[in-house]
Amino acid sequence: MTAQTFTGPVPADQMGFTLPHEHVIFGYPGYQGDVTLGTFDHAAALDECVRVAGTLRSRGVQTVVDATPNECGRNPAFLREVSERSGLNILCSSGFYYEGEGATAYFKFRFSLTDGFSEVYEMMLREVTDGIGTTGIRAGVLKLASSRDEISPYERVFFRAAARVQRETGVPIITHTQEGRQGPQQAELLVGEGADPGRVMIGHMDGNTDPDYHRETLKHGVNIAFDRLGLQGLVGTPMDTDRLRVLEALLGDGHAGRILLSHDTIWQWLGRPLPLPEAILPAIKDWHPTHLMDDILPELLRRGISQEQIDQMTVKNPARVFG
Ligand SMILES: [Zn+2]
Repeated sequence: MTAQTFTGPVPADQMGFTLPHEHVIFGYPGYQGDVTLGTFDHAAALDECVRVAGTLRSRGVQTVVDATPNECGRNPAFLREVSERSGLNILCSSGFYYEGEGATAYFKFRFSLTDGFSEVYEMMLREVTDGIGTTGIRAGVLKLASSRDEISPYERVFFRAAARVQRETGVPIITHTQEGRQGPQQAELLVGEGADPGRVMIGHMDGNTDPDYHRETLKHGVNIAFDRLGLQGLVGTPMDTDRLRVLEALLGDGHAGRILLSHDTIWQWLGRPLPLPEAILPAIKDWHPTHLMDDILPELLRRGISQEQIDQMTVKNPARVFG
């Protein structure tokens, strides 16, 4: 079993410590229209992302899944440069963002003219089997996303297409849930469409602090991710202390074999520099790509979580889901 990375297939047992949901570069759709003030300095961005990747390497991280949807600035050639210069394995995504924050106009228009499912299926299949655009770089995961209160009809097209592509190719699926909602529904939909639950990771589950929400999702056999660690106190992002309380409860249930950990950090924003108000700074002070290693894992050990459970969540589970 291998993971499809920028530098080619990596054997699952060599993926090592893996962060399964981060963003090397990301821009909210629309940044493409702000080129006058939101210029992209390729050399500077590359230097910064190589620096971050190098820091992760020095902290023992060997593999990162880049979860950036196609319309949010996904840039395979740029990620390949980061991977080659830093030695960090990176997996690339194929998929579109949720309806509220994605670029929906393109496919909504096409869906009005054609059979939408076939169009999305063909796109995902080609990106997984042949490569993205003319880069020859193959997507290593499919990325799905749903709205807060429903998996909308538009979003369902992507879920159904991804399940079929996974059935045919085995490619892993990762998801975005919004504000800690729709986790069980996403799992039910994907498994109902024939996806292999062992190769599905329902994301941003740490947006919800009710252990029963997690148990309800796990019932479907899928993996879940606490993948916004460090992003705290905003809409849909509870405090880490509350997340760890849920994580402890789930580990106590014996679910270490189904949980993965990450941050959802963005190393380089596309568009203009972010004008961050002072008031938001405390919420993001721990939102950086070494927070897990610096703060979370030592805290778990202090709470009596074993090194074996930590290795399970950070090494063995990613190898099984993505390998
Ligand atoms: Zn993300």
